[in-house]
Amino acid sequence: MKLVFERSRDGRGTKYLPDCDVPLTDAALPKREKPLRLPSLPETEVDRHYTELAGQTHGVNDGFYPLGSCTMKYNPQINEEMAALPGFTGIHPLQEAESRQGCREAADLLEKLLCEISGMDAMTLQPAAGAHGEFTGLLLIKAYHRSRKDTARTKIIVPDSAHGTNPASAAMAGFDVVSIPSDDRGCVDLEALKAAAGEDTAGLMLTNPNTLGLFDPNILEITRIVHEAGGLCYYDGANLNAVMGIARPGDMGFDVMHMNLHKTFSTPHGGGGPGSGPVGCKAFLAEFLPGTGSPESIGDVRSFGGNFLVAVKALTYILSIGREGVPEAAKNAVLNANYMRVKLKDLYPMAYDTVCMHEFVMSLERLKEETGVSALDAAKAMLDYGIHPPTMYFPLIVHEALMVEPTETETKETLDEAVRVFREIYEEAVKEPEKLHQMPLHTPVRRLDEVGAARKPVIRFTFDE
Ligand SMILES: *Cc1c(COP(=O)(O)O)cnc(C)c1O
Repeated sequence: MKLVFERSRDGRGTKYLPDCDVPLTDAALPKREKPLRLPSLPETEVDRHYTELAGQTHGVNDGFYPLGSCTMKYNPQINEEMAALPGFTGIHPLQEAESRQGCREAADLLEKLLCEISGMDAMTLQPAAGAHGEFTGLLLIKAYHRSRKDTARTKIIVPDSAHGTNPASAAMAGFDVVSIPSDDRGCVDLEALKAAAGEDTAGLMLTNPNTLGLFDPNILEITRIVHEAGGLCYYDGANLNAVMGIARPGDMGFDVMHMNLHKTFSTPHGGGGPGSGPVGCKAFLAEFLPGTGSPESIGDVRSFGGNFLVAVKALTYILSIGREGVPEAAKNAVLNANYMRVKLKDLYPMAYDTVCMHEFVMSLERLKEETGVSALDAAKAMLDYGIHPPTMYFPLIVHEALMVEPTETETKETLDEAVRVFREIYEEAVKEPEKLHQMPLHTPVRRLDEVGAARKPVIRFTFDE
């Protein structure tokens, strides 16, 4: 498609603003030497440009988007309507306190509901993403040990199935990372945990259900071992989709956690934000939270109340589905994942063949050995069927992994169609593996240099002169 600069023709622009009718003062601002080279298009062309642009990508509103670990669920329109209310959008955080009470009330209510869902006692909405929440939570753990003059606790234990942000956040917060292996059921190896936990343990970071979609049956024993060693337990609650309204990290023995509002609580994500990763903690850590004004606080991690409109969308979601709807969404997420898992497992071996939570991980190792068709090939082929590929090559401990998370918002018909596509791709891989290396054939762009796109993105238009 043409870029907006290529569609532009001098003098075709739409002019809504009147000419300036006050004298220009010679302010101390530097003057632009050449006029800004803005594209010049009539409004119809601008509209068409963006509509065409939107058609180049695949969103939840285009079709199935089973991106495991990322929880790409439908974002109800009412969330957007609430977040667009002028009382929310027109507010300035430095307005006098009495004129901001409505927003304060919305934020407080969300904090209260998130505490109830997570089993935590106090919450901050400041962190702008999951990883930012992890970093914040780890600083709380650090502040806690420091307040007790327990400075020898420098290590954070992280299972090898963890999301990559976990060890990264621990390192950013100044801890050493100790990786422990999973056992043959994909859960925490208790013996390895016992061996790792000790006087230098600051804490453990864990996702439960883990990134394999498995709920660890030893969770109480795990948190007990860490507490007994004097460490704290951090829960990565980016995806609460399987447990919200049913089981609470606070009851599993966790002391501090984050949640991704832009996953579990239906606010849109992808393409860089804005997100929100509220951090909750037990009462004994509350004095360390950002934004409390307490001398023990770790200090602000973001300006004002965080990405407030994201919080409004999450609040709308929770209030509109209500006390019955929250656990029902979780149950449907688990049901949908298990439905697909059972319909696929004869062709696609599961990494761990057991009842899963909100997502499951298949291994295409055997398919690759027999046909040369890899997880990447199968994932790319899905694009030709109008389905977004599942997460690939994650978690790292499963070879040729595809991680599928259907979410609760998909119908049985959509799941059946996705199962049909997966099965058809398998058959083609066996019959015509060459074709699978070529796919996708019908997308605006085919196979990209993904490393190049990440490392050397071309995001600026180069003018001729
Ligand atoms: C998405 C995710 C994160 C990180 O969240 P961001 O908002 O992308 O920083 C952390 N842990 C898990 C398990 C996740 O799925």
